[in-house]
Amino acid sequence: MKAPWWMEGVHFACQPNCGRCCDQPGGIVYLSPDDAQRLADHAGLPVEAWLDRDTRQTLDGRFVLKSRDSDGVCIHLNERHQCSIYAVRPQQCRAFPWWGENLATPGAWKATKASCPGIDAEDALLVDGQTIRLHVFADRTSTKGFREWPVPKRRWKR
Ligand code: SF4
Repeated sequence: MKAPWWMEGVHFACQPNCGRCCDQPGGIVYLSPDDAQRLADHAGLPVEAWLDRDTRQTLDGRFVLKSRDSDGVCIHLNERHQCSIYAVRPQQCRAFPWWGENLATPGAWKATKASCPGIDAEDALLVDGQTIRLHVFADRTSTKGFREWPVPKRRWKR
């Protein structure tokens, strides 16, 4: 099978004080079970209480981060366009721009590049294909998500 185009690596460096990937109204951040556990621990809450406070469920029942009522943007993006939970952020946020949907076609990648100044930036470093692959898998796990807590063990693969 032919290796995907990005296996040779892609130049990328996230740009300080950018935040463009997080400030889109209506953006959806899917959560993995590990995300829920880590973010609840960070908030000092039992997972059920954290889910109740900081998430909502999609029409098909998957837990996603809440958005602000005022502008539809993630509740964790602060007024300086910085992520207030950066160190423990969900793996789908960590995986950007290496989402399967962004890498799927040249057109999708072109659109991603137009919205993310970190791709091929002057200070960008080469991100190797294996690292990108791990991000693609992480994004896939998050997109599958979970619909109940505790998550049945057969569905929570660490
Ligand atoms: S849009 Fe790109 S450069 Fe900007 S914060 Fe997101 S990942 Fe970083």
